[in-house]
Amino acid sequence: MAFQYSPFPQNPYLHPMKSRKTIPMKGQPRETVLANMEAMKSSDPNWAEGRTWSLVYHVDDEHRALLQQTAQLFISESYANPFAVESIQQMELDIIGMAARLLHGEEGTTGTMTSGGTESILLTLYTYREWARSNRTGKKKNELVAPATIHPAFEKAAHLLGLKVRKVPLDNHYRADIEAMEKLIGPKTLLLAVSAPAYPHGTLDPIEKASALALRYGLPLHVDACIGGFFLPWVEKLNPGSIPPWDFRLAGVTSISADTHKFGYGAKGSSVLLFRSMNHLRHQFFITTDWPGGIYASSTLLGSRSAIPIATAWAAMHSLGQEGYQNITHNIMDGCARLRAGIEAMPEMETLGQPCMNILAFTTRQNKPDIFVVADFLEEKGWIVDRQQRPHSIHLTVMQHNLPAIGQYLHDLKAAIAFAQKNPQAKAQGSAAVYGLMARIPFRSLVASNVRQLFEDLYAPPVKAKTGRQPEGNNQQMQNPPAWMGWLNRLLSR
Ligand SMILES: *Cc1c(COP(=O)(O)O)cnc(C)c1O
Repeated sequence: MAFQYSPFPQNPYLHPMKSRKTIPMKGQPRETVLANMEAMKSSDPNWAEGRTWSLVYHVDDEHRALLQQTAQLFISESYANPFAVESIQQMELDIIGMAARLLHGEEGTTGTMTSGGTESILLTLYTYREWARSNRTGKKKNELVAPATIHPAFEKAAHLLGLKVRKVPLDNHYRADIEAMEKLIGPKTLLLAVSAPAYPHGTLDPIEKASALALRYGLPLHVDACIGGFFLPWVEKLNPGSIPPWDFRLAGVTSISADTHKFGYGAKGSSVLLFRSMNHLRHQFFITTDWPGGIYASSTLLGSRSAIPIATAWAAMHSLGQEGYQNITHNIMDGCARLRAGIEAMPEMETLGQPCMNILAFTTRQNKPDIFVVADFLEEKGWIVDRQQRPHSIHLTVMQHNLPAIGQYLHDLKAAIAFAQKNPQAKAQGSAAVYGLMARIPFRSLVASNVRQLFEDLYAPPVKAKTGRQPEGNNQQMQNPPAWMGWLNRLLSR
């Protein structure tokens, strides 16, 4: 079996060899533009067939049609500030209120809508930093203490804001080790953060203990429920007692991020960031008064922003209702249980930790056979496979559109294990080889510089053939890219 991946798309309508375009002199007919985009799109991952296990949070075709119609309604609006468009202002406040109630906020619990989890997390760190700076004793506080599994958006935000992340090791169940967390608290600690659940293994951190810790040290505690915020409440309603409290019911929790563009089933580009009280939230608002263009104020990060993400999230909540969310969650959890049981019935396989929702991470016991050979085989069969490290594993999120594909997936997984057992030499090829190599490279900076190269090659301008000018970036390579580039590309976490 050949494990040959090309970093270049096979689709002739895409231009991998990069020629720099000019805006066409004459506009093209709308039908041509649309037909061209359809053709460009034809080679994108076909999530509707259920072969991707991440990224697309699909309900059904009717729901999608509702989102499309909503987008049409608000295609021209710019929600540059919350006073700009009254209808969207109302929808934002509605969603914040509904989220606060769902997550057991107090009377004073409120927040803002952002463009996604990353912005919510950036604003979380920003707001606590500004809050700390607003009193003399907080000026030196610049450290976030969070588990190793916390989403990279925290690291990115810390990097942008000049803060530092102190990583808490995991316990045997892939959850934050709260005793270790306590040891990392010091005079510079600005806040604690945990996940509900963490993306890599779908495990819920011991948030009750983290809450007690936060109260004991007088620190803010952020719960990153970007993925679980609009899912866990329905799991809990379907199966009371199955999920320990993790939201504002815990007195130490001061803020929560929950993505409406994930299991809120709105269009991409929206998230809710809630604070228990205005005492923190007020530090998020930015106002400047000296600009010749007028007084400028914004409640979140973006300036001009589309109204569509907020409107679609609002439409989703009103159209699905609590019953709709519960039904979808029931279907998904049912399918997830079938998938998990099927995987665990294979003697070679094990699930990592105790996932609390529809996220599964699994691997082979003692990595025999190699899980990435299994992954490569599955990819050959047309599945999109998300690979993870530390330990090597495969990651799945079960969505509604995956449900009909579960039987076939289990069938192919069995075949993949059999293949990997019979062909141990396959370990030296494909992603198994590249990830194996990555894991053995002691300097993570070397790995990072390879990934940086991938980006440089993607964004570097095309080489001019006859100018004699030395090309910038690594365009020469793009004519004939090294094989590892394609593999590395596929290994990047989705
Ligand atoms: C998706 C996710 C994020 C980041 O959100 P984006 O919407 O991708 O910016 C943060 N935390 C968790 C747990 C997530 O699943």
